[in-house]
Amino acid sequence: MEDVIIIGAGPCGLSTAIELKKTGYNPLILEKGCIANSIYHFPLGMTFFSSPDKIEIGDVPFPTVHEKPTRQEGLTYYRRLSEHFQLRIHPYQPVDCIKVSPQHFEVWTTYRGKKQIFHSKNLVVSTGYYGKANLLNIPGEGLPHVNHYFREAHPYAGRNVVVIGGKNSAVDIALELSYVRAKVTMVYRKSTFQSSVKAWVKPLIESAIASGKVKMFWQTEVDEITEDEVLVHQQGEKFQIPAEFVFAMTGYRPDVTLLQRAGVQFHPQSTVPIFSESMETTVPNLYVAGVVICGDETSKVFIENGRLHGKKIAKAIKQREKIMD
Ligand SMILES: Cc1cc2nc3c(=O)[nH]c(=O)nc-3n(C[C@H](O)[C@H](O)[C@H](O)COP(=O)(O)OP(=O)(O)OC[C@H]3O[C@@H](n4cnc5c(N)ncnc54)[C@H](O)[C@@H]3O)c2cc1C
Repeated sequence: MEDVIIIGAGPCGLSTAIELKKTGYNPLILEKGCIANSIYHFPLGMTFFSSPDKIEIGDVPFPTVHEKPTRQEGLTYYRRLSEHFQLRIHPYQPVDCIKVSPQHFEVWTTYRGKKQIFHSKNLVVSTGYYGKANLLNIPGEGLPHVNHYFREAHPYAGRNVVVIGGKNSAVDIALELSYVRAKVTMVYRKSTFQSSVKAWVKPLIESAIASGKVKMFWQTEVDEITEDEVLVHQQGEKFQIPAEFVFAMTGYRPDVTLLQRAGVQFHPQSTVPIFSESMETTVPNLYVAGVVICGDETSKVFIENGRLHGKKIAKAIKQREKIMD
């Protein structure tokens, strides 16, 4: 029987594990991919918007070459920290289901095709949001040239590419694509970029649009994607945009199925779990950490503030143990 199992080895799960270690526990982390799996799947050329001190965990400094860490530096940092704190991580072991018994949790997983069940007194769900893209729910969205994730621009050099969306991911991708001289068209339903677009990137995209390197359709919505076009409408007028590749950068949302099936209660009409000051859900001894807590509003929690959840959880678990003794 484990004292604590943590589901998810992202920055917030790792931070929780380190805080628990400092409190005297040795939690087991079950991770469906590799350490910092979401960051591993970010665009290869991505740079964090946070300075390194804002995303470091366990009070260990995060040294970087430039002012903002790169994806590669992030991966190295979180990996080295896992080694340094000797965290017990089982990678490539997705959790399929949580069963709640009166005294403990059963955590059902699959490892290399085989079912395995773990038992734990406490459970922390820190499964993030990057595994589930917001769908447009339009015809053609499932075609093979339509993507919700982006790796790098090189394969799209010189091609007609449509980027749907206007937030940070869409802007970064449109710029990267323009640097390899893809023929980039952005389609965005709003009339301007929002204030959340990184201050140092906004002038770059505005200049790319002004110079025609990126073609922009404001207040435009997508109706359908075909093999070679994106069908849109703008203020009642319908037209087509040629597209050999489409990046629908419409954001991501937490998959809360594990929590729902475990019987956790949610705020009405939402996927925001109800939890206490100490991050405990309505199922006793089941905690949440990181971006999984924010439902559709994923911009409310990120590494900067989600990394703080672990301290609260470690304190609560320790306090409850003292009371039980
Ligand atoms: C391009 C980009 C740039 C960003 N830049 C910044 C930044 O500069 N600063 C900042 O603070 N935030 C930034 N963010 C947001 C930040 O990355 C997320 O908020 C952060 O990853 C949340 O951490 P987390 O540990 O809650 O979730 P995640 O990092 O998503 O980790 C969740 C983990 O759980 C695993 N998992 C999921 N389901 C299961 C399952 N069933 N079984 C086992 N494991 C599972 C996943 O594989 C993953 O490893 C950025 C996001 C993006 C997309």
